[in-house]
Amino acid sequence: MSETLAHEDESSAESERTGEGVEAVLRVEDLHKNFGGITAVDGATFGVERGSMTGLIGPNGAGKSTVFNLVTGIEDPDAGTVRFQGEDITGLRPYQVANRGLVRTFQIVRELPNLTVFENLMLPAKAQGGEALWRSVLPGFRRRVVDEERALRDRVWEVLEFFEIAHLAEEKASNLSGGQRKLLELSRALMLDPTMLMLDEPFAGVNPTLQKKLLERVEELNDEGRTFLVVEHDMDLIMNHCEHIIVMYQGRVLTEGTPADIKADEEVIEAYLGSEI
Ligand code: ADP
Ligand code: MG
Repeated sequence: MSETLAHEDESSAESERTGEGVEAVLRVEDLHKNFGGITAVDGATFGVERGSMTGLIGPNGAGKSTVFNLVTGIEDPDAGTVRFQGEDITGLRPYQVANRGLVRTFQIVRELPNLTVFENLMLPAKAQGGEALWRSVLPGFRRRVVDEERALRDRVWEVLEFFEIAHLAEEKASNLSGGQRKLLELSRALMLDPTMLMLDEPFAGVNPTLQKKLLERVEELNDEGRTFLVVEHDMDLIMNHCEHIIVMYQGRVLTEGTPADIKADEEVIEAYLGSEI
């Protein structure tokens, strides 16, 4: 007991020293990324509080999608660090990041058009299990594979029902509407049972009815304790649903705060809210 307490004291002292909030599930520090002559991300630093619904906003070209790519291993940063749940995950491959519980969706949906909705959901989870191949030499493997397959199928149905798209299970992804594709994309992310989801414009091009459904599901997942970082251009949506907002401009964080803080911040209004998005 006393040992546990001593350990806790030590770790909180450590977090004070490093200036890292113990509640920040994701922390990016001084991220940089250039593409040829273009500076996409130029010293972005921010934290995302565990369990929060955090918004990431900024004009087109501010570097939001690139930050998502750098955090989730799609691109390697030129400099800077990414920490998830205290672990340095900078430079890890996307599947390694996903395995740690950090999953993102894309601005442009990336489902496999020739597969059915059901097959699309089976895929990411299977890919995550790929490292289990060596276990095939162990006794009982075949039975375990059958059990895993069954558990996976159950999980697919669970997720499809959660997003109310079970009736589309056998539909080819290419036949889905834009909004339904966004639901599929979120479903795929949820298959991995993530601690944190990063959504890049999840509501763009989604009709209002579907948008409301999507929002309700996201809030439900957030209430379960999952952390969200959401890029979205609809300011009302961001203001009404995020408790914390980070504003990016020209590759760095211009300001951050509560919706009220952001509304009151003249710099933000000039750089972003007052301009064409
Ligand atoms: P946002 O998502 O905020 O609109 P992006 O991160 O997509 O911004 O882009 C930031 C800047 O980096 C833009 O000027 C964009 O054109 C550039 N950029 C992003 N990805 C690439 C790439 N793969 N190659 C070249 N330039 C890129
Ligand atoms: Mg973008």
